[in-house]
Amino acid sequence: MRVAERIETVGHFIDGHQVPSAADRTFPAIDPSSGAEIAKVAFGEAEDVDRAAKAARRAYESGVWSKVAPGQRARILRRLADLIRDHADEIGAVESRDTGKPVAQATGEVNLGADFFTYFAGHAELPNGRTHPADDGYFVYSVREPYGVVGAISPWNYPFLLACWKTAPALAVGNSVILKMAEQSPLSTSELARLTTDAGIPPGVFNVVHGDGPSTGAALVAHPLVPKLTFTGSTITGQAILRSAADNVKSVHLELGGKTPNIIFSDADREQAIAGSLFTAFYNTGQICTSGSRLLVQKKGASDVVDAFVERARSIRVGDPADPSTQLGPLISAEQYDRVTGYIEEGRRAGAKLALGGGRPNVPVAGGYFVEPTIFVDVEPDMRIAREEIFGPVLSVMTFEDEAEALRIANDVMYGLAATVWTTDLGRAFRMAERLESGIIWTNCPHYLPVNVPYEGHKMSGLGEDLGVEALNTFTHLKTHCVNFGGATLAWA
Ligand code: ADP
Repeated sequence: MRVAERIETVGHFIDGHQVPSAADRTFPAIDPSSGAEIAKVAFGEAEDVDRAAKAARRAYESGVWSKVAPGQRARILRRLADLIRDHADEIGAVESRDTGKPVAQATGEVNLGADFFTYFAGHAELPNGRTHPADDGYFVYSVREPYGVVGAISPWNYPFLLACWKTAPALAVGNSVILKMAEQSPLSTSELARLTTDAGIPPGVFNVVHGDGPSTGAALVAHPLVPKLTFTGSTITGQAILRSAADNVKSVHLELGGKTPNIIFSDADREQAIAGSLFTAFYNTGQICTSGSRLLVQKKGASDVVDAFVERARSIRVGDPADPSTQLGPLISAEQYDRVTGYIEEGRRAGAKLALGGGRPNVPVAGGYFVEPTIFVDVEPDMRIAREEIFGPVLSVMTFEDEAEALRIANDVMYGLAATVWTTDLGRAFRMAERLESGIIWTNCPHYLPVNVPYEGHKMSGLGEDLGVEALNTFTHLKTHCVNFGGATLAWA
């Protein structure tokens, strides 16, 4: 089945149905490897968000999902996971076309998305709540209850995976959800919506509204029936959402930007460090909030390490995402292309030296937003390319003398999402982990993040816990019940 034939007009998914926008507006979905339009997508405005919010709230209050037996909810989520796996190839093809991801990678991410439903299905049946020591004649317990309706706003770098990442734990504990996918990558989520029905998730429990940030996203953030928001995206948008959510004192979970330091000590296993650093710098065309976009190399032996690294980077296969041998696809959009090439210009202007790339690669596809793997050396920590999130295949290389200097450079940015350390010295690994200001530290293993491992952004990289059992805290709030069954009652004497 050819992708283009399957994805011509895509509606919202509200109350169990694909529907057009109330105003009948659409926007184009673009193939980033060619710049061609591949589908028309419903554009949601306040009225569409309102329809979704009312459907989601109605479903929540009816108890069709929130009060269903925990075992039944778990079974349905597991069925959804199986359906995703059964359709992984076709969803992966849609995702690849919509985002420019190499097709094998996109399909892998779809399967990973299924794992989220499998994992969180089990959490529907976990013990919930605690009893608290209390006065004689009192019984006090607290439970964690779903918020009701969760609004999930997602970026374009991992559309299908993040849709699963956000909705699986929210659904497992009984919430209804409304998903607002990024306008650059709306298509795969519609496939997910279709499968939720096949799996047996009742109408109104899982909703998708497409559109942009200022209209659709903002309407979701402002809607009074949506008390919980989870957002992944840029720090600047996260700040705007937090400000707007203050009007209704909403609970907001944020996973924001990063400028991950990837630190190679002289005692590291050189081969392992170079291979892993290459992966973290350029995987997904550098469009990951945890991309190792700052390479810090210890001065002793640095030039050998950097030369070998640059040499290895030359062999990265950039090209057509549909070609199974492609490692690096295009950037997501024309806007992102301008942004990334603007940063390359900025690096040059600031005096950093281009050791590799900087231009458009020679790829066998016309059009498209391709940028070569780009490496800047002689970068100073105060240059913008060393401080700001570029979200593209652009690496800034710096050197350091010792642990103290590595920490100083690593911590001297506003972000605190992830850090990678390459060393064979166990003491150093623990010392660095203790002092690095970031939510997750990977020693000799960048991007190790299975679904059961929790993490949380520090500094301006986030707010609230993700993944693992901890995600259940994110999608529930506390309720406490104090019962007097024969104890003294507080009263005026
Ligand atoms: P980028 O800058 O990389 O495009 P953003 O962080 O702005 O990424 O966008 C991530 C998601 O947030 C997208 O789904 C986008 O539509 C949405 N978004 C953008 N602005 C707002 C906003 N003001 N309110 C709610 N959602 C928004």
